Amino acid sequence: MEGFFEKIIDMCTVEDLMRGYIYDEAHRIYICLYCGDTYDEDLIYNHDDKLCSARRAVEIHISEAHKSSFDFLVGLEKKYTGLTDRQVEIFNILYNENDNGIIAEKMETTPATVRSYKFKMREKLRQAKIYSALFYLINEQNTKNLSMEGKRGTAIYEELQSLKEDIDEEEDNKEEELLSDKLKDVDLNTMNLLVGKIRPEVK
Ligand SMILES: [Zn+2]
Repeated sequence: MEGFFEKIIDMCTVEDLMRGYIYDEAHRIYICLYCGDTYDEDLIYNHDDKLCSARRAVEIHISEAHKSSFDFLVGLEKKYTGLTDRQVEIFNILYNENDNGIIAEKMETTPATVRSYKFKMREKLRQAKIYSALFYLINEQNTKNLSMEGKRGTAIYEELQSLKEDIDEEEDNKEEELLSDKLKDVDLNTMNLLVGKIRPEVK
């Protein structure tokens, strides 16, 4: 069964997920895709006694609350990434290091194995691109989300609002149960962030 976070991923492009935020034209806000935090384009934000735009504020938020897009995405549970613990470990090494010799030391293997690993990663990426192209060609008639350029932000905002409304309608003692039901497919880290941002009083 697909959960809330799957919907967010479905509505995002690879670029959206890499950036970590999306602009909702209708509401003139920037939305953090990782926790639902919003930044109003018509407001000026204050960071460390310096004034900044909403876009800068959401970028700062991502680096402070989620460390980086890479850290957030690689930290998602396996059902979202498809990565094994060992792959996550290697991805972290590759993200932080470019030299095959040093990578080999950290992976406790040889530079030749590292080169072979990188080759296989590119091969998988090619396959993933072809898979995506085939998937979207099959769904072209039905899938509106990715063709809604500039409107994905609004769709995501509405998704967050409907989640919030569902929560508001419930009695206090049922809130926790409903939240866990709504967000049961979201990994714990994301769930805590979502709960914290959308409904701070929920424990
Ligand atoms: Zn966030």
